[in-house]
Amino acid sequence: MGFAFPAGRRPERTGRVSPASLLRRTPAPGDVASSLVADFRSTFTRTLPYRFVGELRACELCGGDRHEVVGRRDRYGNRLRTVLCRGCGLVFTNPMPTDEEVDRFYERHYRNLYHGAYAPTPKAILKARRGALARYEDLRRFLPATGRVIDVGAGSGDFVHVLRSNGIAAEGIEPNRAFAAYARRTYRAPIHAGGWQDVSIPPESVDLVTANHVLEHFRNPLAALWRMHSWLKTGGLLYVAVPDIENPDRTPYGRFHVAHLYNFNRASLVMMALRAGFAIDPASGRSTDLMLRKAPQPASDWLIFPDNHERLARFFSRFTNRRYFLSPTPYRRWVRRMARLGGVMAAAQFRALPDAGTAGVAQGAAVDDERKRG
Ligand SMILES: [Zn+2]
Repeated sequence: MGFAFPAGRRPERTGRVSPASLLRRTPAPGDVASSLVADFRSTFTRTLPYRFVGELRACELCGGDRHEVVGRRDRYGNRLRTVLCRGCGLVFTNPMPTDEEVDRFYERHYRNLYHGAYAPTPKAILKARRGALARYEDLRRFLPATGRVIDVGAGSGDFVHVLRSNGIAAEGIEPNRAFAAYARRTYRAPIHAGGWQDVSIPPESVDLVTANHVLEHFRNPLAALWRMHSWLKTGGLLYVAVPDIENPDRTPYGRFHVAHLYNFNRASLVMMALRAGFAIDPASGRSTDLMLRKAPQPASDWLIFPDNHERLARFFSRFTNRRYFLSPTPYRRWVRRMARLGGVMAAAQFRALPDAGTAGVAQGAAVDDERKRG
């Protein structure tokens, strides 16, 4: 089966990058073979426990030290202590791994994932490219015709590449050296190799910063937001998206991941943004995807959801594994998955028939199915 683009996401042909041209740039056969091996190995190694001593921390958002434990395991069953702050409802790993331990984790994690391969896996590349094009479509009305865009956590550089192909001066910041090197080699994209702390960007020089699913990995997300705030011109924009801990489609046992040091809901993300000096733009999504505008000064009354702790305590006590498996959700999900698989198989069978008219109908159904999934 090919990697069809969800029809609703297809960019208009005004830009210089089409999905087809981006996807045609496939990795060399050598890269594919070595990264397939890496992909296979990582299936076994990524569930291995990562042990760290860490340090007990006060809450990054409100400074409070009254916390209650809401998780003792990660999604692979390894020990991971997660707490809920009674002051503001921020959910985070505590003890928190130290800077050195985080560095070690990423080194080991990426060694496990890429084992001698000098590039991300083909599967990851395709996923990243599709994501980059979808993100470009979502954000294009905010993109400055002239001006500077910075993508924090640029990964393999796909989003930076899509922006630059459409005439926008974009750069990336990526702490993983293999990814940064891949981005430079494949796209000639300007990527600063390092963390947000290491990069020197002149204050008030940037029009738009994007941080897509990176904030939850940082040890100091509030400090990171402050730094991004300093890069932006007055009125400049920050697009930030993180996983939503309250997402009802997420299974309770899959809730916590060792790499996610913070687990936001909309309220805690909004409050952190206010505290860092941003105003919430009406273009923000309804979940944990926000469009933020640099405000002249940080809000002093940022604690606008004082009941967030109660709300999340209720959520954690109600949404347990036991309740989840007693509810119709997992079974409905399984039925949907089976139906989808059946549709794809039926479409493949129809395609094999000589009657072009029938095949067209079946392919249409498969495209519809693909669209729903995207
Ligand atoms: Zn707090």
